[in-house]
Amino acid sequence: MSPFLIALMTVTIQLNAEKHKPFWFQRACSHYGEIDDAFGDYIEGVRPQVVIAGFFGPNYWSAVSYARGKGVKNLWTSLGGGPVDRDWLRAFVERSHRNGTKFIGLFSLAKPYGDPDKPAGIFKFIDNDWDEKALGPKPETRAIDMMAKKADGSLWTEAVYRIEGGAEYWGCISNPHWRDVLKRMATAAIDLGVDGFNIIFPQRQGCVCDHCQTSFRQWLDSRYNAAQLKELFKIDDLKNHKFSVINGWYEQEEASDYALECLKFSQASLKDCYDEVFLQHARGLKPDLILGQWNHIYRSSYQGPGQLAGTFAQLNADERCVLSSDRWGLGEDFVWYSIGNWSMYDKPDERSFADFGLERKYLYEAGGGKPSSVKMDDNVRIQLTIAESVAYGGFAYPRGPNYKDPATQKAVKTWFDFLHRHEQLFHPATPYSEAALVWNRRAVHRGDTLHTADFKRLGRLLTKNHVLYDVLIDDNMSLDRLKQYRLVLLPSVADLTVDEGAMLSKFISMGGKVVVCNPAAGKQSITGAIIFSSKTLQAISPVAWQEFEPYLDDWLPGRSGMSALDTVSFTCFEQGRTPRSKTRKFVAHLVNYHRDRRPVVGVSGADLERPIPTGQIPVRVVLPQGTKARKVTLHSAENSEPTKLKFDQEVDAVSFAVPKIVVHGAIEIEAR
Ligand SMILES: [Zn+2]
Repeated sequence: MSPFLIALMTVTIQLNAEKHKPFWFQRACSHYGEIDDAFGDYIEGVRPQVVIAGFFGPNYWSAVSYARGKGVKNLWTSLGGGPVDRDWLRAFVERSHRNGTKFIGLFSLAKPYGDPDKPAGIFKFIDNDWDEKALGPKPETRAIDMMAKKADGSLWTEAVYRIEGGAEYWGCISNPHWRDVLKRMATAAIDLGVDGFNIIFPQRQGCVCDHCQTSFRQWLDSRYNAAQLKELFKIDDLKNHKFSVINGWYEQEEASDYALECLKFSQASLKDCYDEVFLQHARGLKPDLILGQWNHIYRSSYQGPGQLAGTFAQLNADERCVLSSDRWGLGEDFVWYSIGNWSMYDKPDERSFADFGLERKYLYEAGGGKPSSVKMDDNVRIQLTIAESVAYGGFAYPRGPNYKDPATQKAVKTWFDFLHRHEQLFHPATPYSEAALVWNRRAVHRGDTLHTADFKRLGRLLTKNHVLYDVLIDDNMSLDRLKQYRLVLLPSVADLTVDEGAMLSKFISMGGKVVVCNPAAGKQSITGAIIFSSKTLQAISPVAWQEFEPYLDDWLPGRSGMSALDTVSFTCFEQGRTPRSKTRKFVAHLVNYHRDRRPVVGVSGADLERPIPTGQIPVRVVLPQGTKARKVTLHSAENSEPTKLKFDQEVDAVSFAVPKIVVHGAIEIEAR
């Protein structure tokens, strides 16, 4: 794109952003797959703020072509599709609106399906079946010329889903014709009344088409001079250089400066495409358009070479791992990350309960506090999914529950009624924490993920020991931010600047504690930092989690906490205050992961959740200096009435005992 067009796009996006008010929600029903009138009945019954369902991008239109060929009104596939009958979709969206629910559609950015030889799917749709009534004039470019290409001219393709015997392809997100097709599809969806989009498949394969060649040359030219290009990438003459590879994600054994640069280009190009199609074009049509994107924080193989099993997979998994901090989720309303399927992480013997507190804290921080969620395909632990999400400041539920299961319907309704009644407990609110765990994003941007293991170990130990903590991204570090905490933990100091080293030293001189795991790699010295070696950390994480307590007693004496096993998690938020209010309100959340896991023949869905209640739990919350608790109340979806709790006011803290929780308790503390 020319500098003039980029400048124009930036101005338009800014103008659209000024008209756009971010949309907050926590009650969501998301469904990936077939929706019908029964889904509409369910939505009417449980009353979410948003429903996320139905396909509206290239996958819908790929299916339209197949459906027309077969003479059917619906074609639901594992990749998308839906009712060809657009009037039905329009009526469904209108019905959601009558119910007070916003409708967010799924929209594929880059992965249509079909068969170029027959042609079928996206290829037949664009070339032969184009719907001028809904989408405007037919594109002049053939579908095949918009697809991602390999160096030999063949198309990037995958045959995982094999819809109707075809395969999956990638539209090239650098290709202006593909972007134009996406814009028309977005317009057609907005015409149907949808309130927003959750963008799926925001991924780039190693396309080397002419558009990518030009775009990558411009990218390199803006970042490196001729000498650097030669030294780093062996490029002698950028203007005439032909790239045989411009990769997306890569595995550790393929790592190089060039592979990393290509990944940065890929993620920036995906964001360019997203911004042009949705922030500039679609929000230009509908300023209140709600936007998010379906990302991944795990590798689908679960054990990619060079990567840790499980979450926080980066260079071969996360769609935004090397995107600059100032563009991360920019202009979007919610954050959505998949960790795969929850059952992969439910290993009580390893003290892992498919609990995602650390991931949620990271997403909350990365998204600047906007609604966030972890997609884990949980069709059993309905109460727990919702409880964990809202206890960490996020929304629920992303894909998982079976809406046709009566027990699921009942659980969702009970919870959503509770959240609806008690919205003020959750919003507006900000985390109330005593410690910060630093995520070293800059290391990932250097292609280094070594710190990730210690970050996860520290995070799990803090969670298990009920420390009130936040994840703090290194790019967000400031003295004001540090002053909110008493303890800051750094898995690595390799990427700190001299100023940041001084800032942390100052934080220590003001009474704060700083703990560093891997000091050797650091160039900056932090005066007074405590060294806690990675080796010691590995020895106690995760099974011997209680052995972390003496360290915490030393680093964070007199901290908030509670007496319970690691099967209960603890978080706390402070509610937003009006300027004149003298009262401060805090809400502590307890989530209980203990449940009966024994299999039962013939039982599925929410009936299998079977939480085992726990209690009583003594809790202590340190209050801000000069404030005293006036009232402590337990709220829970499990009890219809709030319960007043007896409490003891110490000099700087309040203590109380929570009699019993089944899955969740929200304890409201009013203080002055
Ligand atoms: Zn391309």
